[in-house]
Amino acid sequence: MVLLLFGPPGSGKGTQSGLITNWLHIPSISTGEMLRREIEEGTELGRLANGVMAMGGLVVDGLVNRMLLERISQPDCRAGFLLDGYPRTVKQAEFLDSTLAARGLPSAIVLHLDVPFPLLIARMNSRRQCPACGRTYNLLSDPPRNPAVCDIDGTVLTARADDNEAVFRERLRIYDELTRPVLTHYRGRGYHRIDGDRPPKAVFEEIVSILDAEARDRETQPAL
Ligand code: AMP
Repeated sequence: MVLLLFGPPGSGKGTQSGLITNWLHIPSISTGEMLRREIEEGTELGRLANGVMAMGGLVVDGLVNRMLLERISQPDCRAGFLLDGYPRTVKQAEFLDSTLAARGLPSAIVLHLDVPFPLLIARMNSRRQCPACGRTYNLLSDPPRNPAVCDIDGTVLTARADDNEAVFRERLRIYDELTRPVLTHYRGRGYHRIDGDRPPKAVFEEIVSILDAEARDRETQPAL
C-alpha cells in the first residue's frame, strides 16, 4: 500500500502517521523531517532548503523529488510506505505517479485531513516536538503525560522553528495556492476526505475503515 497523508500544516498528519505505520508496519516518510535533518547535519541540500523553510516556502521540486526517490528505493519500502507532506505540488504528484507506475507499485491512496484554517492557527500555537526522537505532541489535543517532556525519552519538548504565526500563515497561503490543486489531481482516484477536526482516535478509526475498504476493493481488481 502506498499512502499519501495529506492536509495543511497542523492538521494532525504527524499523529496519524504514527498510528497508521504502527498498525500497518510500513515506514512513514516525512519530507519535512528529512529536510530538517539535512539542515541539522549541514549538508548541501540542507543549506539550500534552510532559507526557504524558515520563510514558510516550498523547497524546489527537483531537490525534493530526488531526496524522495532515494528514500523509497530503500528495501524497507518494498511492501509499501506512507508519505507525510509529499507531494506538495502537482509536479511532485506527477513525478510520484510515474515513479510508482514504473516500479509496478499500486497507485496511491490519498487520505486528506481537512481542518478549517482558523482552527489550525490555534493548534499551531500549542504544537511541540521532541528534538531527540521526533515525536510530535499537541498541548490541546494530544498532550504528553508530563507537561513539557517527551513520553518516550524524557527530552524537553520544543516548538518547531517554522511554528510562528507569520510563517504559519504563509505556509497556509502556499498550501492553498500550490498544494490544494494536488487534491484535484487525485480526485476520483483513491481520494478520501476526512474531517480532521475531531479527536485523533476518531480520525484514526475512520482511516482504518477507509483502508480496510480499499484493501477489499483492490483485491477484486488484480490490475491494481
Ligand atoms: P512539514 O514538516 O511537512 O510541515 O514541512 C516543513 C517544511 O519543509 C515546509 O514548509 C517546506 O518548506 C518543506 N517541505 C517539506 N516537504 C516538502 C515538499 N514535499 N516539497 C517542498 N517543500 C517541502
